[in-house]
Amino acid sequence: MANITFTMIKPDAVAKGHIGDILKDITDAGFKIKAAKMTQLAKQDAEAFYAIHKERPFFKDLVEFMTSGPIVAAVLEKDNAVADFRTLIGATNPAEAAEGTIRAKYAESIDANAVHGSDSDENAAIEAAFHFAAKEIF
Ligand code: GDP
Ligand code: MG
Repeated sequence: MANITFTMIKPDAVAKGHIGDILKDITDAGFKIKAAKMTQLAKQDAEAFYAIHKERPFFKDLVEFMTSGPIVAAVLEKDNAVADFRTLIGATNPAEAAEGTIRAKYAESIDANAVHGSDSDENAAIEAAFHFAAKEIF
């Protein structure tokens, strides 16, 4: 599924009322929404999703932040989805994110940075399957 990526609109952006703005930026950029839902991660969900970061000093803060409120999880389709979506969202730190990117427009800080985007085709498939059953991806 090299044309698939996975995203979450993170708790900061949901709390600030940016679900609609961000989904519009995503579809305007040519992504098709294949799956979407509003949900809230339990502590063990966030720990499993971000297991790759478990030795990083910010892991506990990251889990706390990602469980602090509802998120919107979605599977997106486009040619070159993973790389093009990383371009659309901008750098992890919004202070370094290019003008017009989702993080430049809506993120607050390096931790509360509005959106997640998969970093490889392999992780996109794993992350989509983490959040959605096959029959929920259209
Ligand atoms: P991403 O792929 O751009 O989301 O960035 P990473 O995979 O490096 O990090 C995952 C997430 O951890 C980021 O999106 C941030 O929410 C959070 N994060 C990254 N670096 C830091 C940091 O230095 N401090 C804190 N508190 N959170 C961070
Ligand atoms: Mg990452």
